[in-house]
Amino acid sequence: MVGVDTNVRRDASAADGARPPRIVVPAMAVVALIGPSGSGKSTFARRHFAAAEIFSSDAFRASLTGREADQGISVEAFAALYAAAATRLAGGATVVIDATNLALDARGQALDLAWSAACPAIAVAFDLPVEVCLAWNEARTGRQVAAGVVRRQHRFFQRSLPHLGRDGFDVVHLIQGIDELSAVAVWHRRRPRA
Ligand code: GDP
Ligand code: MG
Repeated sequence: MVGVDTNVRRDASAADGARPPRIVVPAMAVVALIGPSGSGKSTFARRHFAAAEIFSSDAFRASLTGREADQGISVEAFAALYAAAATRLAGGATVVIDATNLALDARGQALDLAWSAACPAIAVAFDLPVEVCLAWNEARTGRQVAAGVVRRQHRFFQRSLPHLGRDGFDVVHLIQGIDELSAVAVWHRRRPRA
């Protein structure tokens, strides 16, 4: 088990012992997914959030160049992603930032977005074994990342895990392993009707 800070919630053993483990998402929030390629972030996003809530770096790269993997256009893709997410957030929605978010700078952008909208920032970290990430990366029908890149991202992620609680997120949900990933429930707090 990795060492974690106090506001990092290890979901299968949440402090209140909730079963199934759950992630509560307020009506307006920024949800940053964090994990190496192949750790199941986009699948999780599609499973638990509406398509209009998901802002995916791959999708923005593809919309700018026609190629999801075009890293050369990353800066423009992230600028477009964050501009669109800010607009959506201003309308009172929840936005999910579906990118690896491995670099501190990347998580900082998500935190800045939440800060400027005065809404909670929630992180969901995908701590899956490297073998799973490699297999799932290969199983993917669309873009595949080189195995060496997945390994490197995984090592980098493992090193940052103990510090995620200090980034400034209101809560960090840590999903460890396939069983937790399939068991986790997402509860959406909807705004009460007027
Ligand atoms: P990302 O790179 O972190 O966004 O990973 P994806 O969500 O794109 O997942 C890559 C592939 O892993 C998917 O196409 C699926 O084949 C597989 N995968 C993702 N999540 C799950 C899961 O919860 N269970 C299983 N069995 N496979 C999954
Ligand atoms: Mg993805």
